[in-house]
Amino acid sequence: MFMIGLTGGIASGKSTVSAMLQELGAVIIDADQVAKDLEAKPELVWQEIVASFGREVLGADEQIDRKALGEKVFNNPKALALLNSIVHPRVIERCDSLLKQLSQSGKTKVAVLDVPLLIEANMTGMVDQVWLVAVSREVQLERLIKRNKYSKLEAEARLNSQMPLIDKLKYAHKVIDNSGSVIETKQQVVHFWEDLMHTIALREQPEGTHDY
Ligand code: ADP
Repeated sequence: MFMIGLTGGIASGKSTVSAMLQELGAVIIDADQVAKDLEAKPELVWQEIVASFGREVLGADEQIDRKALGEKVFNNPKALALLNSIVHPRVIERCDSLLKQLSQSGKTKVAVLDVPLLIEANMTGMVDQVWLVAVSREVQLERLIKRNKYSKLEAEARLNSQMPLIDKLKYAHKVIDNSGSVIETKQQVVHFWEDLMHTIALREQPEGTHDY
């Protein structure tokens, strides 16, 4: 099984690209969803978050209010490090076991691990290739404001708190430029996918049958 780690900044287009890859036949593991599942009451991560951040991060339904929690850690490096130390190891462990299950089932050709913090959380070693979704800062800002209904200032603060794109580029095997239209992005994704299918087919050829 070939494993792709799909990453990119906030509102860069990871979900958009991940849907395209799913349509092409990849199985997607969404780390954000894994984290949400692990943070649900009464999971251990839920308990540890409540113990560390108090009941004020819970909504009326006793589930974690991600917005309230986000506000507690945003611009507070110590609190963010504490939250990451609770959540990241568990998410990594669960993603790893999901990948192993998929691989052992023998049915999946390509798995995509969709992780916003793939690079920051040192998860690049879990995958065969890193595919980075890139957008210009202006486009990213514009899409973030539109999607999350942030003010320009709020959106800029979110972007500024993230690892810059330039630093992520050195980890990327493939870069998908999502600054243009969805159709242009799809063309790049299909191109990379076809390339990958070709590589996989070559790998699967029995020894001695390569025509080079
Ligand atoms: P991420 O998963 O990285 O946070 P999304 O895939 O949710 O990003 O994309 C962010 C927003 O931008 C969404 O509202 C999405 O519909 C929109 N979007 C993504 N790609 C494009 C594109 N190429 N053109 C226009 N809008 C886009």
